[in-house]
Amino acid sequence: AIAIENLTVRFTSKRATVTALDDIDLRVADGEFVSIAGPSGCGKSTLLKAVAGLTDSTSGSVRLRGRHVKGPQREIGYVFQRAALLEWRSVRKNILLQAEMRGMPKAAAARRCDQLIEMTGLAGFENALPHELSGGMQQRVSLCRALLHEPGVLLMDEPFGALDALTREEMNVELHRIWRETGTTVVLVTHSVAEAVYLANRVVVMSPRPGRIVETLDVELSAE
Ligand code: ADP
Ligand code: MG
Repeated sequence: AIAIENLTVRFTSKRATVTALDDIDLRVADGEFVSIAGPSGCGKSTLLKAVAGLTDSTSGSVRLRGRHVKGPQREIGYVFQRAALLEWRSVRKNILLQAEMRGMPKAAAARRCDQLIEMTGLAGFENALPHELSGGMQQRVSLCRALLHEPGVLLMDEPFGALDALTREEMNVELHRIWRETGTTVVLVTHSVAEAVYLANRVVVMSPRPGRIVETLDVELSAE
């Protein structure tokens, strides 16, 4: 699904040059769930953005399902740390924003939206506004929005970082179930090693400045 080879990303300003990623090699197979763990500032977000085509690479290459990544990629789903919902739109309309932006056929999008609302336990809240939801529910809405177009690859950047411990565990169980049901490839960035190990087939550990992969661990026990 993803092939990253010798990827280096440097940010240069008048004052300094930061090597955010240094010579990263990573392959993610179709249907795999990979977690990327590491301390703040080690380049986790930069790595996800490079896969999504939101950050230019300085050298090396990124391929998504065989094609070189150049500019923003359409066939992915992206979940940010903050739910980033539109306050004036209902749950349903926030999810369907994805369909509007992509010009998806309306009936199919509505059907998929209903399925996702059911799958993530949001049934009964279709017409609620974001401020009427808990943090966990808001993040569920943003997960539904990221899954609406059935992306082959789902990229998640510390999606549960702002949630309390119990909600976070609940969301982890749900995410694992959704991954099994949809078969989508997932790359999840987290600074929680427990979360990384619980969810993933493989955990990639990074070190900061310059951002490098220091270890890759296969997880034998999965969350069944
Ligand atoms: P993480 O997500 O692991 O906390 P980031 O990928 O956000 O780390 O950042 C890695 C490094 O790159 C940091 O030192 C950060 O300051 C720097 N960086 C990230 N994005 C930019 C940018 N757009 N411009 C300049 N420096 C950046
Ligand atoms: Mg980050």
